[in-house]
Parts: sequence; C-alpha cells; structure tokens
Amino acid sequence: MSNRTFTMIKPDATKKGHTGAILGMINAAGFKIVAMKMTKLSKEKAGEFYAVHAARPFYGELVEFMSSGPITAAILEKDNAVEDFRKLIGATNPAEAADGTIRKLYAASIGENAVHGSDSNENAAIEGDFFFSKLEQF
Ligand code: ATP
Ligand code: MG
Repeated sequence: MSNRTFTMIKPDATKKGHTGAILGMINAAGFKIVAMKMTKLSKEKAGEFYAVHAARPFYGELVEFMSSGPITAAILEKDNAVEDFRKLIGATNPAEAADGTIRKLYAASIGENAVHGSDSNENAAIEGDFFFSKLEQF
C-alpha cells in the first residue's frame, strides 16, 4: 500500500464550492482516485479520526470544524503518494504554504485549511480503512 494516500476535502472547501477544482488539481498532479465518497462526520467520528491530537489545545475546535458540514473522502494512488501529496497540499498553515499548493489557493486559516493528507504509509492505510470497506477500494 506504499503507493497510496488518503485525503479529505474539508468542510470549508466543500462549502465554498472548491471540490471540483481540488479534484482537478489532484488528477493533474498524477494521482489516480481509487476510492471516493461525499459524507459528513459526526462529532464522535471526527474525534476518533483526529484522536492523535486529543491532547492539543485546538482539538475541540478541530472536531467541531470537521463535523460542521460535508466532506469528500478519497484514496489516491501514485508512486511516492504520501510525500508527493503533502507537497501538493502545502503547509498546515496556508500563510506558510508554497505558491501553487492547494492550501495556498483554497485554505483560509490554519484551522480551516481545505484538505487533509495522510502523514505516513501506515496512517494512509488506517485512514482509508476508516472510511472505505475493502470492496470500495479499487
Ligand atoms: P491534516 O492532518 O489535516 O492533513 P496536517 O497534517 O498538516 O493536517 P496536523 O498537525 O496533523 O496538520 O493537524 C491536523 C489539523 O488540525 C490541521 O490540518 C488543522 O486543521 C488543525 N490544526 C493544526 N494546528 C492547529 C492550530 N494551531 N490551530 C487550529 N487548528 C489547528
Ligand atoms: Mg496531520
């Protein structure tokens, strides 16, 4: 699974109508979509997904935001997927994100930053399985 990563188009970008443009950038960068759905996280599910950040001061805000509206979840395939996708999305804080990155173009703040990207091959597999059954992963 080392050629796969997991992404979410977060509630802010979804609300602003950027889903199509972001998926276009993902495809143009050479990623193949091998699973995808539009869904909405409950507070419980959002808390579970970001449980690694439970002790951080922004955790409550993060859970509220991630459960505030629909998202698009997807599994992406490409050589070196995890690292290359983190490059495509840019720094967590859009003020520090490189020109041409998804967060530079579409994120408003460090909290509402348009997209999620897995940070390791191991987490990519765990996160993909969080949203998709094996039958839904192509
Ligand atoms: P993601 O995991 O969503 O791809 P990331 O890996 O770039 O983002 P993390 O450190 O994993 O960043 O933080 C997870 C998410 O928590 C961030 O994307 C952001 O939405 C939120 N977050 C991180 N730091 C802050 C902060 N200082 N204030 C508010 N929200 C934050
Ligand atoms: Mg992260």
